[in-house]
Amino acid sequence: MTPLLNVDSALENILASVKTLPAETVSLAEAHNRVIADDVVSPIDLPAFDNSAMDGYAIHHGDSAEAGQAQPATLRVNMDIRAGDAPSGLLERGCAARIMTGAPIPPGCTAVIPVEDTDDEWRKGEDSPPPEVRLRRSLDWGENIRRAGENIEAGETIVRAGTVATPAVIGMLAGIGCAKVGVIRQPKVVILSSGDELVEAHQALQPGKIRDTNSYTLAALVRRSGGIPIRLPIAKDSLDSIRKLYRRALDINPDMIISTAGVSVGAADLVRVVMDELGDIDFWRINMRPGKPLAYGTLRGVPFFGLPGNPVSTMVTYEVLVQPALAKIAGRKARARTIRAIVADDLRSDGRRSYNRVRLTRETDRVVAHSTGIQSSGALMSMVLADGLAIIPEGRAQVAAGEELSVLLLRDLG
Ligand code: AMP
Ligand code: MG
Repeated sequence: MTPLLNVDSALENILASVKTLPAETVSLAEAHNRVIADDVVSPIDLPAFDNSAMDGYAIHHGDSAEAGQAQPATLRVNMDIRAGDAPSGLLERGCAARIMTGAPIPPGCTAVIPVEDTDDEWRKGEDSPPPEVRLRRSLDWGENIRRAGENIEAGETIVRAGTVATPAVIGMLAGIGCAKVGVIRQPKVVILSSGDELVEAHQALQPGKIRDTNSYTLAALVRRSGGIPIRLPIAKDSLDSIRKLYRRALDINPDMIISTAGVSVGAADLVRVVMDELGDIDFWRINMRPGKPLAYGTLRGVPFFGLPGNPVSTMVTYEVLVQPALAKIAGRKARARTIRAIVADDLRSDGRRSYNRVRLTRETDRVVAHSTGIQSSGALMSMVLADGLAIIPEGRAQVAAGEELSVLLLRDLG
């Protein structure tokens, strides 16, 4: 028997063998959740010009209190500036300009008094401003003025390569006039299942049959990782059927192929025959639980994972080994996925690195991990209930309640 391969070495091998896909250009409207391909530098200041943060009156702040007394002033209104206008005239001392939110500040103005702090009733629909406005308070220099470049200055980076475009990022890109953006092409991932026992989710169950769950969990996981999943129909346990399935997978010209089942000792070894015919695949025994047997390599140059068939093993090996590979292919920056948590229950292992399905609760100063119950690698409910995978390090046979472990997060904690 070959020695067990350490999880970290397995992941290192995998990551070293996959490459990030090239970029493509998409319109901003299509960019949500896509991975930004290059750093984006703003060519302009935002805001591009000093503008008013309020509907009100643009004044010189020195005119807001009459000389020598705290009595606010009455000023002559000699300008009217709307959003979209480009005022050029100087605001004279002792005068005020009616101004709308977002409208450019005229030269000479040092503060804006909100309309509610004046005697103007700002009647809707009234076109021209009143001849005079009385201020109800004095103003400091700069009040209610949004300065050019206060949000971002020309030459500053607004988003880094590898960032996922959020709605706010898309808004900023629009703001700097970037109507098209370079994003990493989304990986196409073909998902294969085979087994005489499998039927599709919509089919009736006959004695001895089970429904194919893996291709559905995998398709959803791939989508969550930013890939485009393509599920192919289930192959039978026959050389001919498996060969056809794998050829069809390669015809799609995918960026990754994931198959489940057929990699454990005693599994119908037909899958291995076909893998050997079409590519260069290693059969690993990984020091992890669940998920010891795993095939990895390339089929006609396409990265290939043969994951173990038990539904929990499929999902756990995806999270631990496939997700980071797909993230690299998709150009996503790696981010921390583990937290520390106190285990609420005694946990057992067999000396392999073990991934225990846990539900997480937040207490004042710590996170507590509760086992989701039966941990059989076939019991998918243990994943349904899980927020994370509590990792028992290799070499440990048991962990007592109250100990702290790393937990690989399966979802964002609210
Ligand atoms: P195998 O590797 O073919 O021995 O499969 C291991 C276990 O995983 C068996 O119990 C299979 O029935 C189960 N299994 C294999 N493929 C799937 C699938 N696509 N969906 C659900 N269970 C599966
Ligand atoms: Mg099988």
